[in-house]
Amino acid sequence: MLKAYRYRLYPNAEQAELLNKTFGCCRFVYNEARAFKKQAYDTEKKTVSRYELDRRLPELKKQFPWLSEVYSQTLQQSIAHLEAAYQRFFKQNTHRRRAPGFPKFKSKHDRQSASFPQNASIDFVTATLRLPKIGDVPLALSRTFEGRVKTVTVSRTSTGKFFAAVLVEDGIEHPTPPVPDESNSLGIDVGLTDFAILSTGEKIANPRKLRASLRRLRRLSRSFSRKKKESRNRAKSKRRLALLHEKVVNQRQDFLHKTTHRLVVENQATTLCVEALAVQNLMRNKRLSRSIADAAWGEFLRQIIYKALWNGKNLLKAGRFDATSKTCGECGWKKHALSLRDREWYCLNCGAVHDRDINAAKNIVRFAFGYVPRGHSESKACGQDSLCSELCSG
Ligand SMILES: [Zn+2]
Repeated sequence: MLKAYRYRLYPNAEQAELLNKTFGCCRFVYNEARAFKKQAYDTEKKTVSRYELDRRLPELKKQFPWLSEVYSQTLQQSIAHLEAAYQRFFKQNTHRRRAPGFPKFKSKHDRQSASFPQNASIDFVTATLRLPKIGDVPLALSRTFEGRVKTVTVSRTSTGKFFAAVLVEDGIEHPTPPVPDESNSLGIDVGLTDFAILSTGEKIANPRKLRASLRRLRRLSRSFSRKKKESRNRAKSKRRLALLHEKVVNQRQDFLHKTTHRLVVENQATTLCVEALAVQNLMRNKRLSRSIADAAWGEFLRQIIYKALWNGKNLLKAGRFDATSKTCGECGWKKHALSLRDREWYCLNCGAVHDRDINAAKNIVRFAFGYVPRGHSESKACGQDSLCSELCSG
């Protein structure tokens, strides 16, 4: 199976300059190809293929000789990335969490990247990454792997740090999960007060440090937007903001990885049940969207999906129209008038008292296994492939 490993790179001054040059050339080729493609379509209603774009590269290199200074395969990769962006745009469906927009021009202010599809390798002994035309770049050897390197994507963050994402084929098949068993399943719901709620009754909160950083981030971005354009203070504030943003992302990733590892890998449950479209449904509520985006549920679900796949666990989803919060887990009665503010409610039919979120997490398991409450007909469980296609954006 394909696995990705990420390493921090420490290029020397010369290597950093070469990398920056490569980023610039890749960006140039990407933007040039996009403009060419769009113009051909606007003027002649002609769709330019990736093959045709590749064939234009030698001509471009004659026109702009500095393009020849970088590894040519990274330029072809740039065109491949543009094509992928077009594919995503045309193939978009409304079930997606976030609809991809029309491919945009790349700016030098964004995160920079370049992909090396061949001839890149890691030497674990010397802790270096060998890149064609750039040399052996030192890296922080956080972990090793076995397998064949497929692609190495080098990137530079807006704060000037270099990273390499190494895609590795390890030749191992995904383990086959056992037959789903409802009694050995874990329901995972995402909430507002708590980050996640489990069918076991456990509630997982956002870590205190992350919450504090988020508060600081909000304060800093407010003060940044008040600064005068083009002023020195603005530039300083922008850098501070980028650094803090980077820190928040790292803290959040750390929390998410630890949490999903515990829920998927360490947990004994062989089947995980989630409400696939929870994020999309709640995003529609404008007032809540800010905190939801912060909580990074999309990333949480993405990690659960691939960790389940890698570890031979089943992943089932509760149907899109299942009322997981409003249905009594004991008797199936539905409380139609349940509002977001009701944290606790009791069932008028059987008298059970429910914690809103724990009841929902338990119901996710029931619905995922095809439970149909009285008076309802639609509820179905599907395999992880359909869930993957709806949740993974690429
Ligand atoms: Zn009831």
